[in-house]
This record gives sequence, C-alpha cells and structure tokens, in this order.
Amino acid sequence: MLDSGMVNKIQKAKTYAEEPERIHFRSLEVAFDGKNGNHQVEFHEGHWRCDCDYFHGHHTCSHTMAMERVLGVMAPEEVG
Ligand SMILES: [Zn+2]
Repeated sequence: MLDSGMVNKIQKAKTYAEEPERIHFRSLEVAFDGKNGNHQVEFHEGHWRCDCDYFHGHHTCSHTMAMERVLGVMAPEEVG
C-alpha cells in the first residue's frame, strides 16, 4: 500500500515528465552504436564531444546531432 506522500510524489513525477523543458543536462556521456562503429559521445563544460573522425574536423557530427534530436528541449546548449 502506497502512502499518500508517495502517491503525491508519483503524480508530481508524471507532471514533471510531461514538462521536459524543466530538465537541463549539465553533462552526459553515452555509448552510441553507430552504423560504422561505436562512439563515445559526451557533453561536458558546455561543449559536445564525439570521438568519430568527422567530429574532429567539424565540431559536430551525426551522433551529436542525433543526441540533440533525441533530447529535444532537454538538449544542452553549446556555450561560446
Ligand atoms: Zn560522431
């Protein structure tokens, strides 16, 4: 049996989950299973990073772009 405090927390969590703009990632690190290999994608200190070759030359790549699409309004913004 859930007590009323827990019921309230679950209800609040549902409301929050429908308002993802409240959530701001400060850093994250993911293992990305790419078509041509696996990549390490990170957001750290205001910048995206990916270990793929394309990213090194362009400071963006299909992996970081995919992360921004997946995260939507929660996607962290590049600083500077
Ligand atoms: Zn990449």
